[in-house]
Amino acid sequence: MSYIIPLHAKSWVQVSANSDFPVQNLPFGIFSTTTKSPRVGVALGDKIIDLLALFELGYLSNLGFDQADFENQHLNSLMSKGKNANSNLRERLFNLLKEDSTELKNKTEHHSSIFVQQADAAMHLPIKVGDYTDFYSSREHATNVGVMFRDPANALLPNWLHIPVGYHGRASSIVLSGQPIYRPKGQQLPVENEPPVFGASKQLDFELELAFTTYQGKPMGESISTKEADDFIYGMCLFNDWSARDIQKWEYVPLGPFLAKNFASSMSPWIVSLDALEHFRIPGPNQEPKVLPYLEYSGDKHIDIKLEVIIETEDGTENVISRSNYKHMYWNMNQQLAHHTINGCNINCGDMMASGTISGTTPDSFGSMLELAWKGTKPLKMKDGSERKFIQDGDTVIMRGYCEKDNLRIGFGEVRTKVLPTK
Ligand code: MN
Repeated sequence: MSYIIPLHAKSWVQVSANSDFPVQNLPFGIFSTTTKSPRVGVALGDKIIDLLALFELGYLSNLGFDQADFENQHLNSLMSKGKNANSNLRERLFNLLKEDSTELKNKTEHHSSIFVQQADAAMHLPIKVGDYTDFYSSREHATNVGVMFRDPANALLPNWLHIPVGYHGRASSIVLSGQPIYRPKGQQLPVENEPPVFGASKQLDFELELAFTTYQGKPMGESISTKEADDFIYGMCLFNDWSARDIQKWEYVPLGPFLAKNFASSMSPWIVSLDALEHFRIPGPNQEPKVLPYLEYSGDKHIDIKLEVIIETEDGTENVISRSNYKHMYWNMNQQLAHHTINGCNINCGDMMASGTISGTTPDSFGSMLELAWKGTKPLKMKDGSERKFIQDGDTVIMRGYCEKDNLRIGFGEVRTKVLPTK
């Protein structure tokens, strides 16, 4: 069961109009402060609600959760209780926080232990990711890459319109927003028909993606249908799937990405529940040719999420280099999950499934430097006068995303990563 907080609801807790975290959002994360150990928190405006404190003060009784679910370095324990329990938890939080509710509002003596300023908190990696899968579900991105590296006349490979293409990535190197990464090094083939060289990647790139994380799936041998998929998706975050294009180009035939992708992927700290995104569902693209029956779906399963990518140069200046939207996905999450499990593959609580690079239709909406600077042929101008074909040492790549409708803004915050020179 879903629990959707009404579009026009308000909270007695003050939330500014441009906040990513109104009372309809209530995204979950793990935070700590100088006096609080890592624990589950929920963002509201510029505050965090301490769920461990709420639980200890008796506000979250009879919901099927234990203290250990909240006194935890990850959300997995909470997530293992399933969709109904987690929807009930968000409903309970909303009932405590909505405008006309006095139960918590009047207990002012509890407020100082329950409410923490986000500015005073450190965020932690919220999910213990078991398996990480990366899809390739933006038609524009797949087409652009096909045009650049293969054949403009046959940019999409023959399977692309039939299969939500994906590969198994690396879970261990998923890091939180704010954690810098080192430029990867590896083999490259700068000159065709010459031997490969070894060195720092000269073509470090980001991939603008959103990822969803899962509840416990079904046993091996069983499948999750497109209709059932919503009940297995916990929530979404921003995801920067770092890529080294020169390493990728040399290694990817025949088995696909390996060292070009597994050195780092960065995620945003707040997991926005699928329930919070329901207001922003939209129809997807017409899928032609017709998909096989197990990939058919009904209802609006795509989501309108505005996305932007920023390069912050070392002087602290932000340069917006792309504005895209999650609505550009060809394959939706329901189809991705159905395809992932159709062979009997089991999905576990805390698996991470990324969308693939999200490129729009216009050159200013592409989701990677490879496309934005078109293989280095159209460098991007920064405000400080420098140019970028790919990401330089000292650059900070920032991705932000939000949904907007009828003055309601539900945001993801940001994922921000500084690139350090190779070690
Ligand atoms: Mn990717």
